[in-house]
Amino acid sequence: MTGDVYPVPAEIAENALLNNEQYLEMYNKSVEDPDGFWGEHGKRIDWIKPYKTVKNTSYDYHNVSIKWFEDGTLNVAANCIDRHLAERGDQPAIIWEGDEPDQSKTITYKQLSEAVNRFANVLLANGVKKGDRVTVYMPMIPEAAYAMLACARIGAVHSVVFGGFSPDSLAGRIEDCSSRFVITADEGVRGGRTVPLKENTDRAIEKCGNVDKVFVVKRTGGNINMTEGRDLWYHEEIAKVSADCPPAEMNAEDPLFILYTSGSTGQPKGVMHTSGGYLVYASMTHQYVFDYHPGEVYWCTADVGWVTGHSYILYGPLANGATTLMFEGVPTYPTAGRFWEVCDKHNVNIFYTAPTAIRALMGAGDEHVTNTSRKSLRILGSVGEPINPEAWMWYHNVVGEQRCPIVDTWWQTETGGILITPLPGATDLKPGSATRPFFGIQPAIVDAEGNFQEGATEGNLVITDSWPGQMRTVYGDHERFVQTYFATYKGLYFTGDGCRRDEDGYYWITGRVDDVINVSGHRMGTAEVESALVAHPDVSEAAVVGYPHDVKGQGIYAYVTLMEGLEPSEELKKKLVKHVRAEIGPIASPDLIQFAPGLPKTRSGKIMRRILRKIAEDSFENLGDTSTLADPTVVGDLIDNRQNRA
Ligand code: ATP
Ligand code: MG
Repeated sequence: MTGDVYPVPAEIAENALLNNEQYLEMYNKSVEDPDGFWGEHGKRIDWIKPYKTVKNTSYDYHNVSIKWFEDGTLNVAANCIDRHLAERGDQPAIIWEGDEPDQSKTITYKQLSEAVNRFANVLLANGVKKGDRVTVYMPMIPEAAYAMLACARIGAVHSVVFGGFSPDSLAGRIEDCSSRFVITADEGVRGGRTVPLKENTDRAIEKCGNVDKVFVVKRTGGNINMTEGRDLWYHEEIAKVSADCPPAEMNAEDPLFILYTSGSTGQPKGVMHTSGGYLVYASMTHQYVFDYHPGEVYWCTADVGWVTGHSYILYGPLANGATTLMFEGVPTYPTAGRFWEVCDKHNVNIFYTAPTAIRALMGAGDEHVTNTSRKSLRILGSVGEPINPEAWMWYHNVVGEQRCPIVDTWWQTETGGILITPLPGATDLKPGSATRPFFGIQPAIVDAEGNFQEGATEGNLVITDSWPGQMRTVYGDHERFVQTYFATYKGLYFTGDGCRRDEDGYYWITGRVDDVINVSGHRMGTAEVESALVAHPDVSEAAVVGYPHDVKGQGIYAYVTLMEGLEPSEELKKKLVKHVRAEIGPIASPDLIQFAPGLPKTRSGKIMRRILRKIAEDSFENLGDTSTLADPTVVGDLIDNRQNRA
């Protein structure tokens, strides 16, 4: 079960930053001598006062404490902007592509500097101080980046809340970190529809109170209410202040941001990241994982509301002086060819997206891709979920025309940056495997009791020692941090993910540990069954969960979304069961299949299996927290058409 191998293409190898030998040498040094390794690579960013201490971390259950570069000082915004001005002031820092294909603009590093300095001065003028939490509830417009960097410039802590969240979710997140400031826009625009951001903010503040100032960016000019004394127009305020705001000197361990996890498994956690280690790790991973070369155009399609947007739209690329593309819209508007048209329009070299988008576009038909040139593309990336080999092959063959390596990057909000990933010039690829650890990362696989499993094996993925980008705490609740990540296996960081390691030492994420099913004593990752289903030409998406089964202990319940235009039928069900039996074996045969026009997903596009599990168990009265669902209406249809009725 090691799968096919795709070696590094010759054209990539020629110019790559690292080859396999160099990777191995650096990796070994990074784990044998973390102080030496990170002491050297910490210098990739500019420090105001250089650090003397590099690593000071403890995974001891009774004393979990994580500090990196703790006696150094720096400013993150100055690292992302000021230090590039002399050499690349006129180079595009951000290319913004609007929701409509005729809208785009370019912001150079000089222009970014002016915008961020002004915004920082606006915040200061309105009482925002070092350490204050500022909630950013914005559409994907350049001002979202200005807002985050302005916070970083003055040492305020941003908490970005995805613009698709409801007033309730926003209120919860404002309250959790007692944030007295909100930055928002009148309305957002996505896929041709407007999102009432300011109205949602008003409704959120009615619930949670205690917000002193709301800064409002005008995006659409739509009708909104402005509350006298509380709400301020961004464009009016920036005109009143100077374009010079000296960066605050911050300690490496001062908080940079709080970000709530996407809520796939339950109540979101306020993940806290700090300044120095985070920036070193985000910038280093961005450079090596994407093999970034100066001048290249890099596009990560995530929203800044997710950690991927923080580390790989903003902080990593900008710290590296890169050109980063920011996209306001959705992959299917106005057509399913939008991503590839944007790649051609802006000559994108590196493209980073999520399996959910790849599967959706795969279902829409190849012609949307093949109509475009994509000749600028060099590297493709994937993040967010296991990418099933079928989707990987399509991405590789159709989008990348077999010439672009795919970096399948495994990481979490908690990890700050990518932990397990191929490097384009160093790693032979296997479709569906995140391959090998990045520098400084020591993954291990343990069984349910926490015993280390050697060699080719399967079990629970843990990390045995700290890296600079690791989260420091759950905001305001260090005990929850310890209990969530360090209590299951004492002395180890528990990721919550299941994982397989093959004979070549490659890692294969099999999904959440909670999602492992046990059929007649055989343990199976749901991802494996899903991959088999999606490999069938009629299937566009699939989600598999276990449900109580009298004979087998657990039965396999599969929710299947068909390709556009196909009709569900009993005959097709039989075909799919046969197909899975052939792909994996009889043990993996779905017991029940439900055709579902839509699956419940978080707003970052991840399938929320705990809801599917409840419906499969025929106990759907209490579905738990569904506030992070993208489209709550799909749940009703799933319940109505459930297959396991008492
Ligand atoms: P919550 O922690 O609130 O349940 P979440 O885990 O979905 O939400 P994120 O931090 O956004 O929040 O997602 C991290 C998780 O996403 C990982 O633990 C893993 O399960 C999955 N994941 C991310 N990238 C990959 C990848 N390349 N391959 C497999 N799984 C991935
Ligand atoms: Mg998680």
